[in-house]
Amino acid sequence: MTQPLSPQFLPRDQLQRLLDGLHQAGHKTYGPQLCDGAIVYAPLNTVEELPQGVEDHHAPGSYRLKENGSQRWFDWVSTPQGIKPLLFKPREILWRATRDATGAIHFKNPENSTEKVAIIGARACDLAALALQDRHFLSIEQTPDPFYAERRRHLFIIAINCTRAADTCFCVSCGDGPKCEHGFDIAMTEIEHGFIIVSGSLQGKQFIKPLALNSADPAQLDEAAQREANATQQQRAVPSQNMRETLFNALDHPQWDDIASRCLSCGNCTAVCPSCFCYSEQAAPQLDGNSTEQLREWDSCFTQGHSYMHGITLRNDTRLRYRQWLTHKFASWHDQQGRSGCTGCGRCISWCPAGIDIIEELTILSDNRGVADDA
Ligand code: SF4
Ligand code: SF4
Repeated sequence: MTQPLSPQFLPRDQLQRLLDGLHQAGHKTYGPQLCDGAIVYAPLNTVEELPQGVEDHHAPGSYRLKENGSQRWFDWVSTPQGIKPLLFKPREILWRATRDATGAIHFKNPENSTEKVAIIGARACDLAALALQDRHFLSIEQTPDPFYAERRRHLFIIAINCTRAADTCFCVSCGDGPKCEHGFDIAMTEIEHGFIIVSGSLQGKQFIKPLALNSADPAQLDEAAQREANATQQQRAVPSQNMRETLFNALDHPQWDDIASRCLSCGNCTAVCPSCFCYSEQAAPQLDGNSTEQLREWDSCFTQGHSYMHGITLRNDTRLRYRQWLTHKFASWHDQQGRSGCTGCGRCISWCPAGIDIIEELTILSDNRGVADDA
């Protein structure tokens, strides 16, 4: 294990040099950008494309951007989809088959990606979710997913420590943030005139060294610490980091019906969740009758097909689908992965069109008096 560099100061006007270094080493860089009233990750070539002086404000079913007049580029807290789509593509071809003139069928795998990708802006909750996705897709007990594995091998991560908390954040209570502690190549905290920058891997160190930066001085470190402390001020918290027993004891709680009366079964919550990994596969035969493609697409606990087995949809109403989503995420994950599947990013709260707040629901479900009263 290489020794990390001591914290250094990267002046604001030097960030482009870091991007240039990544480009010269063959990385395609992705970073936050303004698009249709949201901050999303998109290919990033210059720092001019970063969202300067923009904050995101979140509430159940609500996301708004506001200008704050600062020159900072990372005053926002979370993008709608995190970094999941860079590794686990929403839709991709797994294999193709063609029939030749003799009737023989030939199978072919698509070219696996060897593109080097660098992402700037990942947050602590995203890194925690990435570790969960790694456990799932790279598990040695199952066959590691070759598509995910190849992209993961080529991913370079520049994490940014949060300096604000959105009203929907609760990573502190999950133990997953707000400070980026591991899982990055480089981590930075933005201060008024630049960044405190540290390496987290040998590769990260190799990109920082040519910048010939000075060590951060005590005043700069103090400013960074104060800004990072702002992000610990979170209004929401999970009732407990392990809700396994609580939720399995609440399977008949009347709150599931109440949620079902509001939930649209739209699946937005699972699409924006950085740790959700369900997918479905389907064959896409071509009209020529001689070729087909096997497609993989993100799936969700909320689709009808997700629980379809042997001619029956096991979870055929919204109550059962929402219960599956919450009990898997916060209960069965403990059996499968030894922890909950939630890293407290708050995305499912902001992007739920019905404004359903999982913290509010978990809190009500933790109180089993409703079950007793009903009995
Ligand atoms: S369950 Fe919600 S808060 Fe937790 S990681 Fe998924 S989207 Fe984020
Ligand atoms: S909880 Fe919200 S986002 Fe999730 S399926 Fe229901 S309505 Fe859609």
